[in-house]
Amino acid sequence: MKNITYINNKFVKHSNAKISVEDRGFLFADSIYELISVFNKKIVDTDQHLNRLRLSLNKIKIKYNFNKKKLKQIINKLIKLNNVVNGYIYIQITRGVAERKHEFPKKYKPTTIIFTKKLNVDKKIYEKGVKIITIPDLRWLRRDIKTTSLLPNILSKQLAVEKKAFESWLIDNGNITEGSASNAWIIKNSKTIVTHPANNKILKGVTRDTIIKILKKNNFNVKEKPFNLIEAKNAKEAFLTSSTLSVLPVVKIDNYNISDGKPGDITKKILYLYNKYISKNKSSLIKELKIA
Ligand code: PMP
Repeated sequence: MKNITYINNKFVKHSNAKISVEDRGFLFADSIYELISVFNKKIVDTDQHLNRLRLSLNKIKIKYNFNKKKLKQIINKLIKLNNVVNGYIYIQITRGVAERKHEFPKKYKPTTIIFTKKLNVDKKIYEKGVKIITIPDLRWLRRDIKTTSLLPNILSKQLAVEKKAFESWLIDNGNITEGSASNAWIIKNSKTIVTHPANNKILKGVTRDTIIKILKKNNFNVKEKPFNLIEAKNAKEAFLTSSTLSVLPVVKIDNYNISDGKPGDITKKILYLYNKYISKNKSSLIKELKIA
């Protein structure tokens, strides 16, 4: 099966998509990215992801000729060409190729790559729930930027894997900020759901935002405020969110069972509401676009 990737205005075979060794994305992680999920041919929250992409570009001051319509067309073309039913679209923009100096080059052409991946969701983890560990949050203080500089996240996730857990929740100043690649949530009582506020200490997840909207619409009480490890361990239920994982029940925190070690009913309801939201998603572009 062919696999086509977009790189700087060209559609090429994935294995032929190459960047220079002097690309600042490679040398310095001077770059930002987005990941947009595709569930059953529906592209989820495209506008929100592209808006965040634009915001990330602005935050790291990459001068970029941002064209949302063009990006949407590329995404749709790739999804069709690569026949993605379930998977994701990955977008990365770097400050381009230049002599290796820390300061921004005077002139540069940003590198843009967009590729797709097929992914089959492991249903078992939703039925069983997952275990997480907690570790100190060693990241910098601009976690709101979706940068590809992800070494602390990678090390945190690896530690979880080594401890036979699914994810690490990160602790900063006594509070749980988020996971290494997901947002963290606890349910304190049947109608109060808590997640860290969207400030510089977390990445403001697109899934997080959508879940907040869905919860408010369904009369849940959402509190965007920090919570600590004791609150998490005493929670009625817990879950995590991300574009690829949607809503994933957390049943163990540091070997401490949450909701009897099984996915809780409220979490299941939230997952159901999110799936309903995705399947009704009218903004899904696949139908709308014709490939030239
Ligand atoms: N926080 C971090 C650190 C992440 O890497 C991710 C996933 N990229 C998220 C939160 C969730 O964000 P989203 O819902 O936009 O995928």
